[in-house]
This record gives sequence, structure tokens and C-alpha cells, in this order.
Amino acid sequence: MFQSSTAQAITIQNGKIIVPEHPIIPFMEGDGVGPEVMRSAQQVVDAAVAKAYNGSRSIKWKEVLAGQKAEKLTGSTLPEETLNTFKTCHVGLKGPLNTPVGEGARSLNVAMRKELDLYANFRPVKYYPPAPSPLLHPERVNAVLFRENTEDVYAGIEFAAGSDEAKALLEFFKTQSPENYARIRFPESSALGLKPISSDGSQRIVRSAIEYALQNKRKSVTILHKGNIMKFTEGGFMNWGYDVAEKEFATETYSMRLHKRLAAEQGEEAAKNALKEAKDSGKLIIKDMIVDAAFERSIAHPEDMDVLVTTNLNGDYLSDALAALVGGLGIAPGANINYLTGDAIFEAVHGTAPDIAGKDLANPCSLILSSVLMLRYLGWMEAADLVENSLSQTFANRTVTADFACQMENAVSCSTTQFTALLLQRI
Ligand code: NAD
Repeated sequence: MFQSSTAQAITIQNGKIIVPEHPIIPFMEGDGVGPEVMRSAQQVVDAAVAKAYNGSRSIKWKEVLAGQKAEKLTGSTLPEETLNTFKTCHVGLKGPLNTPVGEGARSLNVAMRKELDLYANFRPVKYYPPAPSPLLHPERVNAVLFRENTEDVYAGIEFAAGSDEAKALLEFFKTQSPENYARIRFPESSALGLKPISSDGSQRIVRSAIEYALQNKRKSVTILHKGNIMKFTEGGFMNWGYDVAEKEFATETYSMRLHKRLAAEQGEEAAKNALKEAKDSGKLIIKDMIVDAAFERSIAHPEDMDVLVTTNLNGDYLSDALAALVGGLGIAPGANINYLTGDAIFEAVHGTAPDIAGKDLANPCSLILSSVLMLRYLGWMEAADLVENSLSQTFANRTVTADFACQMENAVSCSTTQFTALLLQRI
């Protein structure tokens, strides 16, 4: 059949993506090491797609601007055209962007995720031997983290200490809610921030995590929270999450919240039998854990960490810690997805790595594996497998970038360019 080689935009119908043979994919280089790892990822993806489909499929990359390059060329760090291109093309690849600490403009990353309502930050954590790891059995790590991306303290609603807004809020608490005012240790010198967590926002991310776990035949979904301290926000996240499981996935899941009720009403033995029956019949176990315990658990018993779902700040911390178990930020892929609209932007977990930028030292694996997630999202599994296999084989030869080599014995340290060339050779 005649295949059009014309570049076309991906379209979305009823939340499902329709991928043409030559989709236009916007990419943004980003700041710092961004251009180096983007170049590497695009070369590797293009080679794998060419090999897998022999020209019948290809990616038509379209550059969009953000960050320092955008500011230089357009005067804006996040031009409207960039957001519009992502909106019309639906799937994109992004490099890291700088965010000043404690001053200056708010995060462009957060702005993009909010603007495009990419509510799910999807971060799988998998071990590729012999990557360096502090664990005795790193092969037991195979977690998938769903981090809520649009709410929490990351909403950025903050008032500087001594500002009119902070004073007005404090006055409100003083007169309307004196018990809460009394909880503020130093009211006169406090900056204030808000932590919005909604049932809508919590339920859509937990729903996505459960759907992913069912589709991928995972064993459990753990809702991570600090509901012991923050009853309404973090506790709300947990309770709304259990509600979704119990109401919408009652036949496919087993809720540990109901399990506790069963134990209280009918005794431990009855609850134990019900749990065993659920496991034997392959039901997905929905449980929860206080997030600080999850940090301990993921190091002591990483095999217990299956699909995880949590609020924005918890997820940000935990995903970096999980990355450390399998080699570090150099090999931590991610995606920002709206599973309802189908829009998705794939990006590495790491930032701009200013200490190694421009030195051909960066490990491109995070963005390469983010591209693998993108290929799988497009349904291009053969190309995705080619990239992943070439990466596994290159590691197996102990040829790695400097961030890995300095933690491994008998490893050959490669530059970004040399490592990319090895992957291309294998493909
Ligand atoms: P970072 O992730 O940039 O770097 C932390 C450490 O990890 C550094 O030592 C760095 O050299 C190393 N590292 C990171 N990526 C690496 C790679 N690919 N290969 C080898 N080593 C790598 O975090 P940071 O230094 O805290 O932040 C720098 C900037 O990046 C900040 O402005 C921050 O806001 C921004 N940031 C952006 C994103 C994003 O765009 N998604 C994410 C995180 C941080």
C-alpha cells in the first residue's frame, strides 16, 4: 500500500492518539546539558526507527523554544508559540530548563505542566545491569511512580514574609481562625504558602495509576502520603484514592482500607483469608504507606515497591531517591501525561546539570529512555525495543559515561558522543 511520507500531526480521537507514519514531534533542547543529551537521544531514536521500519516510518522533529535560547531569540523564556505547538502536536520531547532558586521567575516546567494540564508525572525506575547501585540486589528494583503534577505546594501560591498579602492572611487567621493562628510559631516573620489538594486532582491520578497497573499486570498500587500530619490534604489524597479503587475498580482490586474494616468486624483470620483469596485470583492490591516509610522501604525492600502514586512534592523527592538505586539521575526517564486528552511531553528527571554542561560528559540515558517511553506511547514497540536492547548491551560491555564509570570497577569511561556512537553501532 502507498505510504505517505508527508509529515503529519498526531491527532487525538476520544482520548486515543492516532499516530501517522511520519508524525511531527516538537522538541525543546532545554538549558545546560539539554542540547547535548537531546542530540544524542534524537540520533538514537532516528536510527532505531529507520532500522525497525526501513523508511516506512520516521519522526519529523520540529524545534520549539523555551529557556535561555528562547529568551535570546524571542525575548520570552516561554513563547506562546511553544505551548501552541505542543498543544497541536500532542506529543513532544523536552530537555531540562533552568529555574532560579529563591528568587526570580517561577519554574517554566511547572508552568508548562499546568498550562497543558499534564497531570500525571510518570517515572518508571528499572535496573540495567551492571549500572552502579548502593543495593545488594538492585535487580529487585522495578517501580513505577505516578506523581501528581498540577497541585500541592507546587501550585506556587506563596506570599513573602511581611507582604501585604501575608499580613492580610494572618489577620484573617487571627480573627476568623484563632486556633490556626496560634499554630504559626513566628507569625510576624512568616512567609506563607498554600497546599491545594482536590478530590478531582487526586482521583484522576490514582485512576491513571490503577489503569496502568491493571494493563501492565502489576501486583499492587501503593498510595503514598503524609496523611498522619496533613489530614485533609495528604489524608484526603489517600481516602479519595481508595474511593476510586473501591467504586470504579471493585471487581479487579482488593482494597487494604476495606481489609482493615473486615479485620475489625470479622477478625484477623477472615481478613487474612480474604487477602489470600484476592492474591490467588490475581487481584490488584491497593494499599497505602506514609511516604517517609516508603523511602526506607524502597531501600530495604525495593521489591515491595511496585506501582506508586503520590502527591507532587512527595513524588519529586521520592523519584530522585529511587533513581539513586539504579545508577542515579543519569538514567531516570519520565513523562508528563494527560491520560484524558492524550497529550504527553517526555523528559528526563534530571535538571540542567550546570556543573558538567558543555563538556560532553552528560549521561544521555535519561532522555534516551524517556524517548523509549515516547516510542512505546506511539505504539512503536519495535523501535523502542531496539533502543533498550542496544543500551543494555552497551552497559553489559561496561562502556558507560563518567557518572557511572567513577562508581564501577573495570568500566570504560565514554564521553556523551562516544557513548552515543556505541549505541548507534549496536542499533
Ligand atoms: P540536576 O539534576 O541538574 O543535577 C544534579 C546532579 O546530577 C549534578 O551533579 C549533575 O551533574 C548530575 N546530573 C544530572 N543530570 C546528569 C546527566 N544527564 N549525566 C550525568 N550527571 C547528571 O539538578 P540541580 O543541579 O539541582 O538543578 C540544576 C537546574 O536544573 C536548576 O535550575 C533546576 O531548577 C533545574 N531542573 C530542571 C528540571 C527540568 O527541567 N525538568 C528538573 C530538575 C531540575
